Amino acid sequence: MLNGPSSLRSGIPAARGGLPAPLLILLGLLALSCNSEQRATGERNLREARVTVDLATQAALSRGRPPTRERAETTGATPGGQPAAADRVEIASGGRLDFYFRLPRAAALTLDAVEGAAARLRVTMRPAGGRERTVGELVSPGGFQALPLAGKRGRIVRLSLFAEGDDRGGRGAVLVRPAVRSPEPPPAASADPAGRAGGRPPHVIVYLVDTLRADLLGAYGDPRGLSPAVDRFAERATLFENAYAQSSWTRAAVASIFTGLGPRFHGANRRDEALSDDAETLAEIFHRAGYRTAGFVTNGNVGPEVGFAQGFGRYNVLGERDLAELHHLSDRVNERVFSWLGRRAEVDDAPFFLYLHTMDPHAPYAPPPAYRPPFAPRPGGRLSAAELGDLERLAGGIDRRFGPNVRSVAPGSLAWLQALHSGLLAVSPERVAELEDLYAAEVAFNDASFGAFIAELERLGLYEDALVIFTADHGEEFFEHGGWEHGRTLYDEQLRIPLIVKFPGQRRGQRRAEVAQQVDLLPTVVEVAGLATTGEHGGSSLVEDGDGAPRTVFSYLDLDGIRLESVVDGSYKLIVGISSPPTPELYDLAADPGETDDLFAERPTVAAYLELLLAAHRASRTALVAPPAAAAPRLRRKLKALGYLG
Ligand SMILES: [Zn+2]
Repeated sequence: MLNGPSSLRSGIPAARGGLPAPLLILLGLLALSCNSEQRATGERNLREARVTVDLATQAALSRGRPPTRERAETTGATPGGQPAAADRVEIASGGRLDFYFRLPRAAALTLDAVEGAAARLRVTMRPAGGRERTVGELVSPGGFQALPLAGKRGRIVRLSLFAEGDDRGGRGAVLVRPAVRSPEPPPAASADPAGRAGGRPPHVIVYLVDTLRADLLGAYGDPRGLSPAVDRFAERATLFENAYAQSSWTRAAVASIFTGLGPRFHGANRRDEALSDDAETLAEIFHRAGYRTAGFVTNGNVGPEVGFAQGFGRYNVLGERDLAELHHLSDRVNERVFSWLGRRAEVDDAPFFLYLHTMDPHAPYAPPPAYRPPFAPRPGGRLSAAELGDLERLAGGIDRRFGPNVRSVAPGSLAWLQALHSGLLAVSPERVAELEDLYAAEVAFNDASFGAFIAELERLGLYEDALVIFTADHGEEFFEHGGWEHGRTLYDEQLRIPLIVKFPGQRRGQRRAEVAQQVDLLPTVVEVAGLATTGEHGGSSLVEDGDGAPRTVFSYLDLDGIRLESVVDGSYKLIVGISSPPTPELYDLAADPGETDDLFAERPTVAAYLELLLAAHRASRTALVAPPAAAAPRLRRKLKALGYLG
């Protein structure tokens, strides 16, 4: 450890007290000699280093007063160059401030100044699960100062400031612009897997499979061979191993794909909420750029009545009039899409944006007969007389205008699922396996359609230069947390989705482990197509490899009285039930991927850090106002059936 005079030689003039040795190797930011020129350079470098954590903002969030944009403007810099009030944090005499963050590379705590008269401002740091140790002391009052924060990069830490031993009137201190700063990382090598098609805007296709869990696909590790077409597609594309949905039900998740905004901000969450006209959607961006835009969807939850046709020249909800089945299967979607693709070629050669929303794996689980024997071999066992009676009663309650398939009592039918939801059917491992198999057979059927779709693109010479994205809106639960289907929790079985992106010209497959999410699709697509947006979007483009920094995923659900939000950061996931009081759960996904061991009480530092991430996310932008959804009666009937008779 260096003593006080040595710390002065280090080029940080104001810090006082014991400073740890890593100060000397603060990535060359700090001069090592007494040379005043070098000292000035070291201080300037630190002042100019990137603010990785804005501690004043965090202090405001911790007090429940997020600094909004308006406040930042009205409390902006005062005449004479005084920093805005939002940059100042008070600490009372005898008081303590805690901050939580992931430790950046070569980090330092910096302050532009400390005002006031606290005798001693001690700084400590404690890594999650580790021991607290003293970092150093700040001079109060004093000018610019910095304390290096040594420790393992990326660890979640609690940084604490204590105003101690006040012998000058108990006035505490004001910290001016406290921050954690880190030098800029070296510029990342620009690897462009896109290999953009020389100047010509690419065709852009999003093929979405409603309710498809990532782990059913061979490319994501399933051994059953359910998805040969998707697996082959992935061999020549970029597969994101850790992709997340922003919500666990269709409308909220697809709105995030269309707008690049999280559900808290796009506002289309509840059944009676539509997507606002103020939202700038992918289709609108493409339409403005001269693309032809077409959507073929099989789920009325993303229909024109709820704002999802914005920007589409053509947008068809298929099967709305068909009461024999709840949704059109993907082979019939292909028929319509192939016909559109063929006619398009006759009209002109303009680039197109095509959105396909297929529905096969969505409940009810009713795979075509040819897919049952190979993929759904496990029977679920016999029904009791009481169970059969309940099923028949439930099926009898379904609108009689629907066909016999919809009003069936077979395993996986609407009545069956309703009986499971209401506890009328006993749950056994065999019954769970039977439903998983039927679902898997539907996935296999969809895969065949996807294969046919890719083959048609290739036949038309459209595949090579197109940007093709294969993904899902959300996953599906099979009793992992005591429930069924989706739109009810934010556990991973409902949030983990496939995301496979074939960039224009891409021929070699790539697997990427960094976290990706639905809000990343809009910035990715816009970048590849070389287009501009007018709106602000969340998410980040996936064109370039991430630099390994952990990325944060926020998901949100507000449906049928269930309100939840979650954040995933590194291996940790916090799920908060939005109620009074909130009901938080914390999981370490690396050690406990099934999310069964709640660590909230055991890991307070991690929990506090993740709660702050959520608070910062909530305060980060203004939400669009969702207009009321006006569903047509026919649509309402189908949506009600899809909403499980509720
Ligand atoms: Zn869905």
